[in-house]
Amino acid sequence: MDEFELIRHYFAAAACARVGGDVALGIGDDCALLGVPVGEQLAVSTDTLVAGVHFSDPCDPYLLGQRALAVSTSDLAGMGATPIGFTLALTIPSVDPDWLSAFARGLDTMAAGCDMRLIGGDTTRGPLSVTLTVFGRVPVGQALLRSGAQPGDLLCVGGSLGDAAGALPIVLGEREADTAEAAALLRRYWSPQPQLALGQALRGKATAALDISDGLLADCAHIAEASSVSLVVEQARVPLSNALLRFAGAEQALQCGLSGGDDYLLVFTLPADMLPAMQAEGWPVHVIGHVAAGDGVRLVDAEGNSLSAGHRGYNHFTS
Ligand code: ADP
Ligand code: MG
Repeated sequence: MDEFELIRHYFAAAACARVGGDVALGIGDDCALLGVPVGEQLAVSTDTLVAGVHFSDPCDPYLLGQRALAVSTSDLAGMGATPIGFTLALTIPSVDPDWLSAFARGLDTMAAGCDMRLIGGDTTRGPLSVTLTVFGRVPVGQALLRSGAQPGDLLCVGGSLGDAAGALPIVLGEREADTAEAAALLRRYWSPQPQLALGQALRGKATAALDISDGLLADCAHIAEASSVSLVVEQARVPLSNALLRFAGAEQALQCGLSGGDDYLLVFTLPADMLPAMQAEGWPVHVIGHVAAGDGVRLVDAEGNSLSAGHRGYNHFTS
């Protein structure tokens, strides 16, 4: 099977490669063509997942396809963008039909849930890695940036944190996965659900937002820096799932929630007067602290005393 047959068979023929929505032309030409409605801007983001660095190798190709697309699409959620489509730059060591069809099915599953379309890509031979570029659209001036947080705003997250980090020992084969809790955590690791609807609902309301990929405290530091403010996180208000608490124990669960990466939930700052309406509409908004004047991220107990944050998240280039 040559490169072109491979692309046709596994990717151009995939359900997620069907043209529609804002995609005027998809796979097969030199470029895809996207329509962006007047008054909207194109939101673009790229992520690379490298075997042995971002996922264990070997791993289940179906789950990898799902997770790769979720991780990338989550950046659109963090900007409040509406998904349009994505390109796939795939590097594979050899042509393995079972692997490719399972990987494409994984992409299909996540693409259907996110209203995403595969619009093109590149296929090369080499050590396994997956690069996805996602495209979305957002009304001019309404994208959720990291830079607008104001002292007095509430600091909020879109759900319980740390589940994906809690699953890591299972993913790495260090712990058994034979309980309902373990299964729930593994689902959060392999199939995170980008909070696209929440991101869009926060347009014109949240003053800053991003999706948590490196851990709550590490990602809050990005908002603090971009907005020139301090973020105060109340440790006791960080939501942790029962599955995580049972599987990892209270202390480890808290570490996962504060510093574990891979959750792909939104963290955002919200003027206090916006909270009642968001909650009344049923959006998952959990207040975990507030924005103050100053800089950096401060973890505090119920009385407002500073706590040590411990390990602050994953960074590829920290020695
Ligand atoms: P070119 O040489 O013009 O860059 P390619 O031969 O790399 O084109 O690809 C042919 C077509 O197939 C292009 O439309 C490209 O976007 C698409 N394509 C290549 N690899 C993939 C892939 N892994 N998934 C989806 N589309 C792909
Ligand atoms: Mg090419």
